[in-house]
Amino acid sequence: MMSDVAFIGLGSNLAKPVEQLENALRALHKHEQVSVQQCSHFYQSAPMGPQNQNDFINAVCKITTSLTPIELLDVLQSIELEQGRLREGERWGPRTLDLDILLFNDLTVQSERLVLPHYGMSEREFVLVPLFEIAPDMIMQDGKRLSIWVSKCSLAGLKRLGEKFEPESLTL
Ligand code: AMP
Repeated sequence: MMSDVAFIGLGSNLAKPVEQLENALRALHKHEQVSVQQCSHFYQSAPMGPQNQNDFINAVCKITTSLTPIELLDVLQSIELEQGRLREGERWGPRTLDLDILLFNDLTVQSERLVLPHYGMSEREFVLVPLFEIAPDMIMQDGKRLSIWVSKCSLAGLKRLGEKFEPESLTL
């Protein structure tokens, strides 16, 4: 029974980050214990920290799963390893796909490998805005509505793109 609900944040600033995200969504859905229910539009966002790098493409998807949170983290990390590396000659470049568990049901976890809800969510417009698109009524851990969190973050540097990943396309 895939009765647990999780929200996954996806990000990439590869040369073809849209394809990175689409491939990651496909890989996730292919897993027999994961079903991708919904995905936000893709958003382009200015990088945090050093500005001498490409803009990021971000999205948030909603899944149902029968995996435990740690098993889900293992799956996400193996997708990052398989797909999130750019081949440069004979060498493997740095990781360029980032997959985070934002929320898993209403669990709070504080372990070495896993922190839930994902830290830093509250200030990251590239997480909050796509999340709001697919879960507009969500109540956050502090009891406030997600819409309140969204209204407090800066939207400068965030642009919604035309691409939208339809889970139906996964079953073809
Ligand atoms: P980063 O390279 O910034 O994506 O950080 C990856 C590390 O964050 C991994 O070693 C994970 O064990 C850890 N981590 C802690 N909480 C989470 C979470 N909610 N989702 C994904 N990774 C997490």
